[in-house]
Amino acid sequence: MAITTKVTDSEEYLHSTFASRYMRAPVPRFKLPERSMPKEAAYQVINDELMLDGNPRLNLASFVTTWMEPECDKLMMDSINKNYVDMDEYPVTTELQNRCVNMIANLFHAPVGDDEAAVGVGTVGSSEAIMLAGLAFKRKWQHKRRSQCQPFDKPNIVTGANVQVCWEKFARYFEVELKEVKLTEGCYVMDPAKAVEMVDENTICVATILGSTLTGEFEDVKLLNQLLSEKNDETGWDIPIHVDAASGGFIAPFLYPDLEWDFRLPLVKSINVSGHKYGLVYAGVGWVVWRTKDDLPDDLVFHINYLGADQPTFTLNFSKGSNQIIAQYYQFIRLGFDGYKNIIQNCMENARVLREGIEKTERFEILSKDVGVPLVAFRLQDSSKHTVFELAESLRRFGWIIPAYTMPADAQHVAVLRVVIREDFSTGLAERLINHLNQVLKEMDTLPSRMPVTPNPNPPKHSHQDIIRYWRRLVDHKRNGVC
Ligand SMILES: *Cc1c(COP(=O)(O)O)cnc(C)c1O
Repeated sequence: MAITTKVTDSEEYLHSTFASRYMRAPVPRFKLPERSMPKEAAYQVINDELMLDGNPRLNLASFVTTWMEPECDKLMMDSINKNYVDMDEYPVTTELQNRCVNMIANLFHAPVGDDEAAVGVGTVGSSEAIMLAGLAFKRKWQHKRRSQCQPFDKPNIVTGANVQVCWEKFARYFEVELKEVKLTEGCYVMDPAKAVEMVDENTICVATILGSTLTGEFEDVKLLNQLLSEKNDETGWDIPIHVDAASGGFIAPFLYPDLEWDFRLPLVKSINVSGHKYGLVYAGVGWVVWRTKDDLPDDLVFHINYLGADQPTFTLNFSKGSNQIIAQYYQFIRLGFDGYKNIIQNCMENARVLREGIEKTERFEILSKDVGVPLVAFRLQDSSKHTVFELAESLRRFGWIIPAYTMPADAQHVAVLRVVIREDFSTGLAERLINHLNQVLKEMDTLPSRMPVTPNPNPPKHSHQDIIRYWRRLVDHKRNGVC
C-alpha cells in the first residue's frame, strides 16, 4: 500500500513507500526535482496522492458534469493534443464550435436569419463568458456616452446579491461598480422591481440569473424586461439585460419551452450558459451568445484570416484545448432535443424523490422550487442545538459531499444545505442519501449541542499567532451559523 506522508523533520518532501520500488529519494514538494524519475514511479506517486481527493460522482456540491459516455471520452482523448486556437490547422474543430454556437442561439430564440450566422463564442466556462458579455456592455455604454459628450468613467451593473462570484470578479477586474439588490428571508432571488429602482444612466446592464446558484430558482426575466422597458421609455435610457443561464440555459428550453426568459424578450442582449453543467460536458466549456452582431462592439473582436475566410475571435485566452468543444458537439448530435429532455426530466424526478424524502423527516424547510434547476436546497427548521454545518460534516462520513452555506445579504442568518442532481445521480443513490440523512439526524439528537461559546469581541492584544487563532474561532463560529 502506498501512502504519501509529510516528513516530520521537514515538510518539503513527499514520501512514497510504494514508489521506493522505483526510487529512493523523496520527491521535493515545492522545488523542481533535480533528477528525472521513471514514468511508472511518477504515475504511482501522483495517482496515490490523488486517492485522497473526494469521489467526483458523490460530489453533490457541483453542477459540473462528472460522467460522459465512453465513446465521448475516446473522442476527447483523441483530440487532447489539438490547440483550439490553431483555426488554420484545425478548421473542422472551428466549424464544430460554430455549429454549437448556432444550435445554442437557435435554442435561445436568437433572431438569426436563415443565411446568417449567430454571434457567439465558446469559452472555458460561464465565468469567461460573463467577462466577455460584461465587457461588451461596458464598451457599448462607453461609446454611447462618449458620443453624447457625457462622462463614461463610472459604469455600474445591477444584479441580485445572490449572483455567482464571477460577477464580482468581473466588476473588480474591469472596474464596474456592482449594485446588488438585497435578498430577504423567504425571497432568495433578485426582485425585478427593486432592480429597476436601482438603475441609472450609468447602468451598463441588469444581470439576471436563470437558476440561482443558491436555490436553483429562476428569476423572473419577463417581468424584469417589462419593468425595465417602462423605465427606459420614461427616462430615454436603453439599459439592456444579460441572462446568466449558466445552469438554467440547458434546463428551461427542454422542460419549460413556453417560459419566456431568452431572446424572445427584446431587452435580452446576451446570454451565457455552461456547457459543463447541464450541457453535459466535463469541466472546461461555456458559451456566450449575443442577440445580433450590433450587440457586440466591433472594436472588441479580433479578426484572424484563415483559408481566405475571416474568423472573428473574442476570448480572453489564446491557446486552449479543443476536446471540450468536440465533446459538446458530440452531446448535441448524440442526444438531440429529446435526449436532453429525457435526461433533465430524469434529474427532476430524482430531485423530487429526494425532496419528498427530506420533507418526510419533518425537520427541514425546502427552499428550492418545483420549477428551476434540479436541486434540493433545505434548511433545518430548528437549528438551536445543531446546525446544517454539522449535518454536512456527518454526511461526509458516508462519502457524501454536500455543501452547507449561509445566504448572502440580507438573509445571512439563513443557513442551508444544497444537493445538486446531475445525470449520474440515480434514484437508488437518492434513497440511500435519505437513509443516511435520517441516520445522522437520529445520532445528532443523542449528542449534546456543539454550539461554540461566544468569542470575546474585544480580544486583548496578543501575538500574531493568538490573533490568527482568534480569527479562526470567529470564522468557525460564523460557519456554524450563529452570527
Ligand atoms: C456556475 C455558475 C457560474 C460560473 O460558471 P462556470 O462555468 O463555472 O465558470 C456563473 N453563474 C451561475 C449562475 C452559475 O451557476
